[in-house]
Amino acid sequence: MSDKGPSAMYRPVTGTVLDVDTAFYDRLAEDTAGRELVDRFVVPIRSGRAWEVPAGHLCRVVTTPEGPQCGDFNVWNRHNPKERLWTSRTRQLQGAHVTRYDRLWSTLPYLRPLLTITNDTLDWYGVDSDGARVHDLLGARCDPYVNRILTGADFDFHCHSNLTRAVLPYGLTEFDVHDVLNIFTLTGLNADDEYFMKGSPATAGDFFEFFAEQDLLCAMSTCPAGDLSVPLWGPDARDPIEVCRPLAVEVYRPAPELVEGWSVPEVPAYAGLHGLLAPQWTATGLAQAP
Ligand SMILES: [Zn+2]
Repeated sequence: MSDKGPSAMYRPVTGTVLDVDTAFYDRLAEDTAGRELVDRFVVPIRSGRAWEVPAGHLCRVVTTPEGPQCGDFNVWNRHNPKERLWTSRTRQLQGAHVTRYDRLWSTLPYLRPLLTITNDTLDWYGVDSDGARVHDLLGARCDPYVNRILTGADFDFHCHSNLTRAVLPYGLTEFDVHDVLNIFTLTGLNADDEYFMKGSPATAGDFFEFFAEQDLLCAMSTCPAGDLSVPLWGPDARDPIEVCRPLAVEVYRPAPELVEGWSVPEVPAYAGLHGLLAPQWTATGLAQAP
């Protein structure tokens, strides 16, 4: 046991998809001159937007000159919305907060990288004296149902609603919106194991960049809590409209030679049928095959 405590349950196995080729992603991150901007847009405050990122492309989420803002992010396989971000497995395989070289993993029965983070200008933040870190996979998106419970009022521009409106043009619905990556969001667990959020340490121009490992549909909400420096709920709550800012999104095609030899990760080759055709465990032991 190190001074960090017990070691991680899930550790990379050399030669598997968990063994990240950091030099490959470094080259992609560093070659900003050789990449071509193919899409750029701004997500206004308290709104949502969905967009596609083709496999092998880079995507950057950028704070604007107006200042910090938290972005609640969803991601799906563009061709199969049942394959989407699985936050709990990603927390186990990577960490409860993510940065450069971490991957976002998809749900079963797929379990492969949707994307790999190539650059993160907030990686210097590390962990603060409260145990808080940036780019959070612990917390769910804010939603109008929990808001109703906590305040008794209705509000239509929570992240869950913003994401729902964003994905409707792609044939998806509220049921496809899932647990998020909270980009630029500073969070942790307190001594009572309770989830807390603090004001984002981002400043204008900070960015979070990733490489699409598959054809992706992405969606992001500019959280109505803005940079999270003002509580949405509780005794000190007030409308944090003055800390709400837009976020920009950029999609790039990298120089072709940088992705030579790269291919979309495969689904793990589990060939069983979940024991459907195997002898079953019973109270008296292993029974004969059916
Ligand atoms: Zn939110």
